[in-house]
Amino acid sequence: MPAAFDRVIGHVDMDSFYASVEVRDDPSLAGKPLAVGGSAERRGVVSSASYEARRYGVRSAMPTATALQRCPDLIVLPGRMGRYQEVSHRLMAILREFSPLVEPLSLDEAFLDLSGADRLLGTPVEIGTAVRERIRRELGLTASVGISNSKFVAKLASDHEKPDGLTVIPPESVVAFVQSLPLERLWGVGPATREALRGAGIRTIAALARASEESLTRVVGSGALHLRALARGEDDRPVIPDTPPKSLSHETTFAVDQTDEEVLEGVLLSLAEKVAQRARANGLGGRTVTLKLRLPDFTTLTRSRTLPTPTRDAGEIFRESLVLFRSVHHRGEGVRLLGVGISGFTTSPQLELGLHGDPGHERDPDPQRLRHLHAAEDEVVGRFGRKALGRARSLLSRSVEDTGSLEGRPRPEERER
Ligand SMILES: [Mg+2]
Repeated sequence: MPAAFDRVIGHVDMDSFYASVEVRDDPSLAGKPLAVGGSAERRGVVSSASYEARRYGVRSAMPTATALQRCPDLIVLPGRMGRYQEVSHRLMAILREFSPLVEPLSLDEAFLDLSGADRLLGTPVEIGTAVRERIRRELGLTASVGISNSKFVAKLASDHEKPDGLTVIPPESVVAFVQSLPLERLWGVGPATREALRGAGIRTIAALARASEESLTRVVGSGALHLRALARGEDDRPVIPDTPPKSLSHETTFAVDQTDEEVLEGVLLSLAEKVAQRARANGLGGRTVTLKLRLPDFTTLTRSRTLPTPTRDAGEIFRESLVLFRSVHHRGEGVRLLGVGISGFTTSPQLELGLHGDPGHERDPDPQRLRHLHAAEDEVVGRFGRKALGRARSLLSRSVEDTGSLEGRPRPEERER
């Protein structure tokens, strides 16, 4: 059986970004060798080259004069940074719909921590396909995506079938994949390090992975252990978002307005479970639990409760959202949409004390958390029976819309009651 991903890290990299934006905006450029960069007269360099130009050996960072020698028909455009920034902004917004943890590396490249998204969004292959599809549909551009269990391997993977590729490296294939690559693909191995390693008889990533700390330190100094860990496919650096998420929520719109109390409470529990799972996967705990309820006439109610200590406990989130639900919902009244969210995130010591866990990634099931969850399930089951919970869950899985909102922005059409 394949090993489970302990973390799911994605790396998204747009294909020849500036050049592709130019082609998209002016389709007459399609299929032509194109570069965005400074002019040859001003000793400019290429910042982005279309794949047609790359066939002539045109590369980014190459002097434009050299690029024109290699490809005399090359079309050189000066570039429109404002336009690229605008597209980049939309790209990052799309990525943030897949995970609150998006770490942009440049305008056209970002890491995403997708841990915990799998039960919501599917397998890594399905998530990668969905990300690429959204980008293609909404931006009219192609992206290459790599997914693995670390930043390092995800980035290698996105490059593996570039352009317009998707490469998923499951944990059990990481070592073989990394060690199939040339030595210089390791981060931090430039020409000088490569020569020093070769001088010491280390010519492959596999050999580097086997080298002793002492011998490696003699060659590359203090970076030896880090380099050897990469050669072993080990890289536990977290994805650090440029802006921390403000809220995390899940909501569902029912295909048919729901009046059944037991179904609604079962759905609340399922939503609380999803929120808690995402919060744990992202190392977040929130003090405020928010319930969102939309009535058949589109009136939307949101109610919040703030707890003394932050939580990412499904049972606690459920109990709080149930109190809120009962405070606004009249029995028998139809419900069009239900949502549960948490906000007011903290990384204070309270969270660590309260949750006994590694703030980054909980790998061990926390007994207290499981107890709370089971108690909440028992509560629903006790009132309505196990079948009710099953019905609620299957209803949720078939619902017309199941969105994980990360910002909790109210939408313009919503009216407050
Ligand atoms: Mg790129």
